Amino acid sequence: MDSARSTAGSSSGLAQSYDIELEKAVKLIRDSGAERVGLQAPEGLKRACPAIAKQIEDRTGAEVMISGDPCYGACDVDLRLCEEVDLMLHLGHSELGEGPIKVIFLEARMKEDLVEAVQRAAQVLKAKRVGVTTTIQHVHKLGQALDVLRAHGIEGVLGPAGGRVKYAGQVLGCCYSTARAQEVEEHLFIGTGRFHPMGIALATGKRVVAADPVSCQVSEIDTDSMLRRRFGAITRARGARRFAILVSKKPGQRRMELARRLKALGESAGKEMFLVYLDNIEPDRLQNLGANAAVSTACPRVALDDAAKFQIPVLTPPEFEVLVGARPWELYRFDEIEE
Ligand code: SF4
Repeated sequence: MDSARSTAGSSSGLAQSYDIELEKAVKLIRDSGAERVGLQAPEGLKRACPAIAKQIEDRTGAEVMISGDPCYGACDVDLRLCEEVDLMLHLGHSELGEGPIKVIFLEARMKEDLVEAVQRAAQVLKAKRVGVTTTIQHVHKLGQALDVLRAHGIEGVLGPAGGRVKYAGQVLGCCYSTARAQEVEEHLFIGTGRFHPMGIALATGKRVVAADPVSCQVSEIDTDSMLRRRFGAITRARGARRFAILVSKKPGQRRMELARRLKALGESAGKEMFLVYLDNIEPDRLQNLGANAAVSTACPRVALDDAAKFQIPVLTPPEFEVLVGARPWELYRFDEIEE
């Protein structure tokens, strides 16, 4: 396999910040003889898609069709487009274990250096042995992060790959197995946003320092306000009589068994429960169902990150267990997708 990488297109500054495995895609298309190719990307990389499509068409002669629907992760392969094409290119995510056979995952690796962010984090870390985690965009630079920590007398530890996680040290919004596997007293998360470091803090119960490689800002994660908000959501949902259990159509978010178990749990607690199967979970999709509250078995971000969008409380599965008394609040658990 050709390991050369190309910078995708010039139509987006954001896309230019990434190395995309375009050579790999071209070789696979040529080798497989694919005549129709699907191209799917998350919003941040979508602007680069027309330029990528043009390059692929020019170099392989295949017709490229871009998926226009939202794409949130490797869990979210456009299966309808898959039916129309011989090969599907899914950009920006690593595969979650075994996926649909004709889907090729092309990682987008951020060029951003981690040195400055990790140097700043080293000033804030308290332990001499810390767990180090990041998201797929930076995982290729974890060696650099470990070197910086070592220069500051800190041993960085990476939890092993496995399950939904392809690389040592990688975390997903729905899976923190690499962080939980690290026997350390403190964690360093390298990446943007608060969701992943919050997940690490709740999954491990340990101190988490987050270092943003783009802004080089370093902060300590405080879980109190999020836990207060989630406790408030459970309290508001407690008075609800009718619960919608939301089941995602997205292949890597579909947790049908869990949904059925929660339905039975709610019914035995005297609640009116019904299952709802849908693709994108948006407030207007819930509006006419007449539910007073919902439980999302889909991506954990729906309940935890998008809560403010919904008019009714939307709980995660462990939160619903708290509501019906099947789990004590003290054993609050961040929702993770294991299957
Ligand atoms: S379920 Fe959510 S967090 Fe997990 S891969 Fe999909 S979009 Fe990302």
